[in-house]
Amino acid sequence: MSAAPSDQYAFGDPRSRYPDVSPEPQTQEEPGLQSQMTPVPDLGESSYRGTGRLEGRKAVITGADSGIGAAVAIAFAREGADVVLAYLPEEQSDADHVIEQVEAAGRKAVAVPGDLRDKAYAGQLVERAVAELGGIDALVSVAGKQRWQPDLLDITDDQFEATFDVNVFGLFRLVKAALPHLQPGSTITTTASMEAYKPAPDRLDYAASKGAINNFSKGLSQLLVERGIRVNVVAPGPTWSVLQPSGGVDPESLPEFGSSESPMGRAAQPAEQAPAYVFLASQESSYVVGETLNVNGGMVTP
Ligand code: NAD
Ligand code: MG
Repeated sequence: MSAAPSDQYAFGDPRSRYPDVSPEPQTQEEPGLQSQMTPVPDLGESSYRGTGRLEGRKAVITGADSGIGAAVAIAFAREGADVVLAYLPEEQSDADHVIEQVEAAGRKAVAVPGDLRDKAYAGQLVERAVAELGGIDALVSVAGKQRWQPDLLDITDDQFEATFDVNVFGLFRLVKAALPHLQPGSTITTTASMEAYKPAPDRLDYAASKGAINNFSKGLSQLLVERGIRVNVVAPGPTWSVLQPSGGVDPESLPEFGSSESPMGRAAQPAEQAPAYVFLASQESSYVVGETLNVNGGMVTP
């Protein structure tokens, strides 16, 4: 695991908070296992210190087995939330590590593996949350699909459809399934990307889907604020996760990952994304609605 600070509040130079990862070129089949990466990303296991900011909350988190979603699940549990963890069945071993962390925090971890492309899955996720957590008041959509291709002609119709099916249609179905259960005070937090504003030419379908998520979330925030439900977005910049070595980026570009793009001079660790999700779900952000919180090391957005 990458070296981590003693806790997320430890003061210091952000540039050297984590080392520049400079990963060796490496590849895995999609969706990949984080446990097989070199180095393994930091989910905040040894550093995230909760202070009761989500006490008693009931969260559904997608993509919760690895990377950003896993760091969010650990942070939410340490802040006092019970969580439903959504991920693909083949990611069970990564999920087991996160479930262990949630339970060690003294919170409930309800594992509901499944595929967001399956139209029945969103309903099943929400049903399990209602049955086992007694409801749902924080929906956190982190799951995402990203495949790099050198040229537009290399993007098949199947890939384009699959990217939108997971990233956009999956989110739509999830919100629809959860909405009847959300009460005033509930939050929906989605995950866009720097790519929503500055699309990379080798992932046009992905970048477009992230633009759609950002736009959908802002519109949704206007609809739901009238019901006391707050919708916000986190837009991560380059973050070391298994998304990259499992086909998300050109493997040859990995040694430079994050260090050339971000003014911070390094990629983020998933542990550095989690506090943004905690903030947007907690009541301390009560007047924050329809916002996109960029966590990207200084890549300025409109
Ligand atoms: P990750 O691979 O660890 O997490 C992505 C997760 O998406 C997987 O673990 C998987 O559970 C889920 N997923 C993918 N396809 C699915 C499907 N068909 N059904 C159900 N679940 C599915 O990578 P990550 O970097 O932590 O990604 C989390 C989110 O952050 C994604 O939405 C990604 O687009 C976004 N993001 C990541 C970066 C980055 O640099 N890592 C930058 C900007 C945005
Ligand atoms: Mg995963």
